[in-house]
Amino acid sequence: MSIGPGSTIGIIGGGQLGRMLAMAAAQLGCKCHIYAPDEAPPAAEVSARFTRGAWDDAEALGRFAREVDVATFEFENIPAAALRAVEAETLLHPPIQALQTAQDRLSEKAFVLELGGRPAPFGAVDDERSLEAALETIGTPAILKTRRFGYDGKGQVRIGAREEAAEALAAIKGAPAVLEGFVRFDAEFSILLCRGADGETILWDSPRNEHEGGILARSTVPAGDLLAEQIAEAAALARKVAEALDYVGLLTLEFFATADGPVFNEMAPRVHNSGHWTIEGALTSQFENHIRAICGLPLGATGLVVPRVEMRNLIGEDVDRWRDILADPSAHLHLYGKGEGRPGRKMGHVTRLLGVGD
Ligand code: AMP
Repeated sequence: MSIGPGSTIGIIGGGQLGRMLAMAAAQLGCKCHIYAPDEAPPAAEVSARFTRGAWDDAEALGRFAREVDVATFEFENIPAAALRAVEAETLLHPPIQALQTAQDRLSEKAFVLELGGRPAPFGAVDDERSLEAALETIGTPAILKTRRFGYDGKGQVRIGAREEAAEALAAIKGAPAVLEGFVRFDAEFSILLCRGADGETILWDSPRNEHEGGILARSTVPAGDLLAEQIAEAAALARKVAEALDYVGLLTLEFFATADGPVFNEMAPRVHNSGHWTIEGALTSQFENHIRAICGLPLGATGLVVPRVEMRNLIGEDVDRWRDILADPSAHLHLYGKGEGRPGRKMGHVTRLLGVGD
């Protein structure tokens, strides 16, 4: 069964990812209905309907689900119970199991390890004793990360020496955590994969990603010849992950490229910041193919439309440069309608198509 033009797509979560999904859905003649707890989320601004509701309001979630033809999510920290309330009433993609796996850094690493992937050395940390034990085997430098609710470098502390252990645990307020060995990487990259309801799986060119302060700053495509082999190995793992989860929609896996090959960092069961370049830079964007996949429609081609593409995030007051960005004819400006540019807040992004007449 496929869901076509005129249908209503429910999007759980109302951030910029939901906003760009809604815009892609509109292009296909679909309407979107956003469910989020926020007062005026960026996605609601461009969607036909918006339900403001709490994650634990099963009744509101059920009502929302009955009003849509298919539902998806754009935010990783949604309680699984909220998605179960939606799934009880309508079709939901990607699967809840994918979200649950990705929500917990420990289960995510164990899952990928089982499929033959290689995460950085890691150990579970619940208290001082288990942190000591993990430091004993992993050594320093290491990174202590909360198992849940971390994003954009939040919920992470670097441990340079054993003496810093207690301080690091206090910094994450003793939350359940994982200790990860510090990876000496040459570059970071991500695999962007989309799997259709019939199992057809497509990939885009992998972007090379550069972070600043734990937040993605820049993605460039192609990632370069040096990464090609690593990308092929990482892509094979991503395909296995998608198959094991019977995944439908856009799936992202992030990797470190190291001298010993690709090291898995984390996965996101959703469209991803490192795929924003696909809006103008690829024949079909990650957003459009996600909508096509969850609707059971054929997927679009993913090839590059120009030799090189660069995406930069506009974080905090970077957004004030919007006028200068518009003066650059190769730049495509995207603003998320978030109002004030607070430090660390993703306000928009700019994509430049390169290699043609420049
Ligand atoms: P994460 O939220 O886990 O993706 O971490 C954000 C960024 O911090 C990554 O993209 C890396 O740049 C850096 N980082 C995270 N974990 C490690 C690690 N184990 N070794 C080195 N750098 C890391």
